[in-house]
Amino acid sequence: MDKNSLLDLTHNFNKRNIEVKFFETLDSVKSYILELIPLNSTVGIGHSTTLEKISLTSSLIEKGYTVYDKELSKDKIEGTSIKKKALTSDWYITGSNAISIDGRIVNVDHSGNRVSAISFGPDKVIIVVGKNKIVDTLENAIKRVKNISCPLNAKRAGYNPPCVELNKCVDCTSKERVCNILSIVEGQIDKNRISLFIVNEESGF
Ligand code: SF4
Repeated sequence: MDKNSLLDLTHNFNKRNIEVKFFETLDSVKSYILELIPLNSTVGIGHSTTLEKISLTSSLIEKGYTVYDKELSKDKIEGTSIKKKALTSDWYITGSNAISIDGRIVNVDHSGNRVSAISFGPDKVIIVVGKNKIVDTLENAIKRVKNISCPLNAKRAGYNPPCVELNKCVDCTSKERVCNILSIVEGQIDKNRISLFIVNEESGF
């Protein structure tokens, strides 16, 4: 991505009250997050292969934070309870399926917990994305989430909607549908409640 595009992206998010920071590596993002969040905070985690890659949850727990990550649950009931607690955590950290240079954050969700927390609840939200998630427009962000993120995420999670075989969205109503909620964040009331941490590496779907 060229320098002018990144400047445009930053400008377009900043005018929508969303902060943007750039990092060279995932490890540097992790170190920054572990220094940034005050120690007595509660931290919710929205599922993200990027965050899993850097073992963020276990590092937060080791440092003494109270962490709500459904991946720590032993069954579905406990998982739902953890997802609810994460909705009112002080901080929420997750990834995103696509961000656009024109200033939008686009996600699809199976149950809706992640997009809910991004929208409202936690005081601060950090969204970590690899450079492969950047597209130019909202339209292309939606195309990306439906045709790239959904099939790959469905496969990872063991679901089998039609896009897994077809590698494209056919707007299914399958019981295996993984994109029940489509969320577009176009701005924030509270300045810098959401921070986008963009990493100069390819990561996640
Ligand atoms: S609507 Fe169905 S086919 Fe389209 S992305 Fe979602 S799960 Fe896949």
